[in-house]
Amino acid sequence: MPDAAAAAEAQLDDLRRSGLRWLAITFVDHAGAVLVKGVPLARLPQVARHGVGFSPVSDAFGATGLIDPLQTLARPDGDLRLRPDTGALRPLDPAAGWAWAPGVRHERDGTVYRLDQRGFCAAQQGLLEAEGLCVLAGFEIEWMVGLVETAGPWRPAVAGGPYGADRLVEGLDYLTSLAEALEAAGLDWLQLHPEYGAGQFELSLAPGSPLEAADRLVAAKLVIQRVSRRFGWRCSFAPLVSSELVGNGGHLHLSISRAGRPLLSGGTGSAGLTAEGEALLAGLLEQLPALLPLACALAVSYRRLAPGRWAAPFQVWGVENREAALRLIPAAAGEPAQLEFKVADLSANPYLLVGGVLAGMAAALARPCPLPPPVSGDPGAMPAGTVRRLPATLAEAVAAFEASAVLREAMGGELHASVVEARQAEVRRSDGLGEEELIASTRWWPLTDL
Ligand code: GLU
Ligand code: MG
Repeated sequence: MPDAAAAAEAQLDDLRRSGLRWLAITFVDHAGAVLVKGVPLARLPQVARHGVGFSPVSDAFGATGLIDPLQTLARPDGDLRLRPDTGALRPLDPAAGWAWAPGVRHERDGTVYRLDQRGFCAAQQGLLEAEGLCVLAGFEIEWMVGLVETAGPWRPAVAGGPYGADRLVEGLDYLTSLAEALEAAGLDWLQLHPEYGAGQFELSLAPGSPLEAADRLVAAKLVIQRVSRRFGWRCSFAPLVSSELVGNGGHLHLSISRAGRPLLSGGTGSAGLTAEGEALLAGLLEQLPALLPLACALAVSYRRLAPGRWAAPFQVWGVENREAALRLIPAAAGEPAQLEFKVADLSANPYLLVGGVLAGMAAALARPCPLPPPVSGDPGAMPAGTVRRLPATLAEAVAAFEASAVLREAMGGELHASVVEARQAEVRRSDGLGEEELIASTRWWPLTDL
């Protein structure tokens, strides 16, 4: 392995020349919150080699950022070293001098911490690559901007209708600043538009490797939050900010190829899928209930998953069907066919979600099962019992996750068990909260101070 400190030393001059002076090193905890340590950039060589201290207790932080005392990790001792991945280091807000890098937690002996979420994702990517598969991934981010004084009901900060050019014009200064900030952070994107909900926007990030997609999501959320604050607003990535509105999704797009040949198009199977493409879809479909706690981590996530909100709460696949948890988007205009994992929201730890989906894909190829026919039309309008709903509560989803041998094997018993504990803590936190109280408790997710 090349010496991390020497590589960082070589990077330093270039970084300084571009005005960067400080570095935010992040990791995402089990509850989906992005945690951080800042260091002077001059310390990069040292922290690249030895990391900065981070207590393992942070994976016992709950949805409101407080330690849940019943979890195994809720203890005061122990320490880990969070090392920046210098290959993924990028500007965060270069005008303010800040750079950003995703971190990986290591033990003091230099091995990757067995519960590190990004380490898990990287390992799953490596395993699929070793099988000859190439996966490209990209996230869509939906968020809402609201007025800060909103202690009570949701009040959007930007007026204008669903997909409305009026909202684009009302929020043009905001969107211009956002586009500039994304460019300054080196984050390529494909599309930006006003979404259906009041004050809601959507950004599609450019695809990359699965690990890059997860990294980009973390960085892009920080950039969105920064720009929103500059306008005096709060942004919310919560699955649901009001019972009267649609939710915020965090859909994951995937395209898959083997030796340059796409698996999701050009085949003789259903909707042009290849045999391997069919197996991938069938396997993922089967594993959806177990994957759900990785995709939808908050209790309120399951309120978003109501039929009719296009949050795709049905265990079905469909071609261009926006209520299907797995939406196949056929190849068009030079773009490969994509599988949209549509049910996910932004409470997900993207490394756990992407790693879990990759593990599900590997299992699907190893043990192919037949693919049911696609569902067209609204699954919610079909006769009862003809289409399966996904788990309707976090407690139900956690039971499916806990029972999944595929995920336990891929994650390792300890990581798997600690995610179960974290989700059970969220079930306990939300028990007894009424609908409005529950929504209010995470309305500004991931902000918890209002
Ligand atoms: N806002 C919807 C969600 O909660 C998604 C709408 C769409 O992009 O189809 O996921
Ligand atoms: Mg959308």
